[in-house]
Amino acid sequence: MTSNDIAILAPRRPDGGRLLLAGRVAHCFDDYREFRESGLKPAAFIIRCTDAAATGDWLRQVRRDPDHAARLVFVEGAVSDTDAAIGDGPLPDSVTALTERIDASAARAQAIRGKDDDRSPAALLLEYLWLRPGAVLEPRADWRHPRLYHYPLLDALERGDADPQDWLQQLDRDGLLTRGELRARQRECDFCGSAHLRFIDVCPSCRSIDIDQHAALHCFTCGLVAPEDRFTHGGGRCCPKCGSHLRHIGTDYDRPLETTACGSCQHVFVEGEVVAHCAICDHSMAPTALRLHKLWSWRLSSLGCLVAQGRSQAQSPALFDTQHYATRGHFLHSLDWLLKIGRSQGTRLALVGLRLRNGRELAAALGGGRCAQLLDSFAERLRELLAEADLGCRLDQETLCLLLPGADRKRLKQLERQLGELQQRALQPEGIGPQWGMAEMSPDSADTDAGRLLARLEQRLGGPAEARVAA
Ligand SMILES: [Zn+2]
Ligand SMILES: [Zn+2]
Ligand SMILES: [Zn+2]
Repeated sequence: MTSNDIAILAPRRPDGGRLLLAGRVAHCFDDYREFRESGLKPAAFIIRCTDAAATGDWLRQVRRDPDHAARLVFVEGAVSDTDAAIGDGPLPDSVTALTERIDASAARAQAIRGKDDDRSPAALLLEYLWLRPGAVLEPRADWRHPRLYHYPLLDALERGDADPQDWLQQLDRDGLLTRGELRARQRECDFCGSAHLRFIDVCPSCRSIDIDQHAALHCFTCGLVAPEDRFTHGGGRCCPKCGSHLRHIGTDYDRPLETTACGSCQHVFVEGEVVAHCAICDHSMAPTALRLHKLWSWRLSSLGCLVAQGRSQAQSPALFDTQHYATRGHFLHSLDWLLKIGRSQGTRLALVGLRLRNGRELAAALGGGRCAQLLDSFAERLRELLAEADLGCRLDQETLCLLLPGADRKRLKQLERQLGELQQRALQPEGIGPQWGMAEMSPDSADTDAGRLLARLEQRLGGPAEARVAA
């Protein structure tokens, strides 16, 4: 239960450790761990600090703490621009203003009821936005950030090593956030998502960077195109290849469009080939292979407001995605139903799970964009193999789940063989392709809980000992 009290984080504690502020008890701490140990659930934090770096550390500690991440945090003292983005601004200058802010947030917090104990960064973001009416999630450009443009609040809420972009996109797909303004567009490395790119033109023939603009000549006798200085011979012009004397432009020679020459292979060309080089992961790629990332400002949608208060379930409005894979909710519902039919009529049922074994290697070799495309087309091919009554579900990017009513051993063997063929066909010119591990289950009358069954299947996919690698 949140108390009415305030927590003050400051390098120096006043005597007694507490004081009275805006009619509330304010507890002072000079260490975040000490605050955690106190078990206090304050209505708001105040960071009182003249050292901007220390203020930033404290702000991030609060936002990373699943128990307090969404609380109001005011700063009294110094704070950097980037860190200010994850705080609630300076301490209001009057007691009334402070009380109003805290009361407004507390009233909204009270509306949150019957909420499951989801403390994931995505759930905390919804709560954060709900507690601040009209709050907008804004991207910021920071040259020190590997991505360049990023959302400081998302980075602060993310406690593990997941990419905040992934869960932001999921919130968008689930209709929990609404797009505001388009703030920026940036091209990003397809391997690591960084926007720290260096563009350089290279020789289209040997890819050397040693290229230069030259006036060039074209010998009509032998067709040689080369920099002009290679044609000079004594006082006149002479072709270095066939020895012809070039006297009259238009009859013996002309000036071609190709005016860039390579210092390594002597190739002459019109324009160099542009290559984008990533400063973060060191990969090179063609500019056309770069990802285009649009950065929007975001606010809570009306469905997001309900979900943040625990009044509605986060769910995709559709039962199927564009590839006709069922959503997790729909899949579980169908599994549950088939288990019931199985119990009353004894119908056979097979549950098959597929997990990508080499996601990391695949993304490293092909880049994120191509890797995602490859997995999409794999899922599409796999969908084509399913019978009309079968149901598929993409649990996440690397996990597929199939529900096969009436499938016997023969059908499963056949599926395993077809899966092997699909893997063969998905092999890329780089010599790498998706490697899927397969696990299967045949539920019996003792299996009554669809959720638990699916969890068991996922567990089997996680351990290489149980799951057999197909093909
Ligand atoms: Zn010539
Ligand atoms: Zn060259
Ligand atoms: Zn990169």
